[in-house]
Amino acid sequence: MSAIQYKTDEEIEIIRENCLLVSRTLAMVGGFLKPGVTGSFLDQKAEEFIRDHGAEPGFKGYRDFPATLCISKNEVVVHGIPNETPYEEGDIVSVDCGVYAKGFFGDAAYTFAMGDVGEDVMKLLVVTKDSLYKGIEAAKRDGRLGDISHAIQHYTEKVHGYSVVRELVGHGLGRNLHEKPEVPNFGKRGRGVKLQEGLVIAIEPMINLGTRNVVQANDGWTVYTKDRKASAHYEHTIAVRNGKADILSDHSFVEEVIEKNDNLEKISLKN
Ligand code: MG
Ligand code: MG
Repeated sequence: MSAIQYKTDEEIEIIRENCLLVSRTLAMVGGFLKPGVTGSFLDQKAEEFIRDHGAEPGFKGYRDFPATLCISKNEVVVHGIPNETPYEEGDIVSVDCGVYAKGFFGDAAYTFAMGDVGEDVMKLLVVTKDSLYKGIEAAKRDGRLGDISHAIQHYTEKVHGYSVVRELVGHGLGRNLHEKPEVPNFGKRGRGVKLQEGLVIAIEPMINLGTRNVVQANDGWTVYTKDRKASAHYEHTIAVRNGKADILSDHSFVEEVIEKNDNLEKISLKN
């Protein structure tokens, strides 16, 4: 068991650069997302974009994962492998991306809504995205990791009645894609490691509309909900800096693209 690797300011700036490239890749993908487009196509575009910017895909080849993006549709929670099945109006499409450059990784994810996904599912997306920021607000120096976990679990389960996936968690990030500590989306306030300056973690709530139970597909990657109801996923990489969370990735690139793409719905409740 290796210890937590706290990062220097210089290292955090490299990770930020990588996370911004991830964020721009997610936005680029969002620009292409429409009914009829396939995951394989988006994956190819993402790989080209990342390489054109002097980085390498962070997921491709990681434990033999075959693609640049994890694309997880509807009941798929995470780790979906891009394929040739065209997306359809009404799908929710989670895109998770990592890059590697200058010795460090970057990681972020966003779930898109393609057209009318239904009121229940839209609310799941909004609440899951909000829960990410509840977790981020709880990431303060001298707090505990469990404060982040508790904030996400409380908001999604207690306040909104959804369920938190237990088998998959956020993670430390740096020279490795997954480092100590694990960042569960469930837990108790005041528990776990102390949050110190230089801690870099990916916070990534994976929230289900129905049961929290998940199943792993035969491909060894795809994780889907046992009841086949929808699951949402949003992720930011953050650093604890100057006493609070410094968000290194940036979903505003994605949200600008959503505004311009008529095939995508803004992640907000109508009325
Ligand atoms: Mg990710
Ligand atoms: Mg991650």
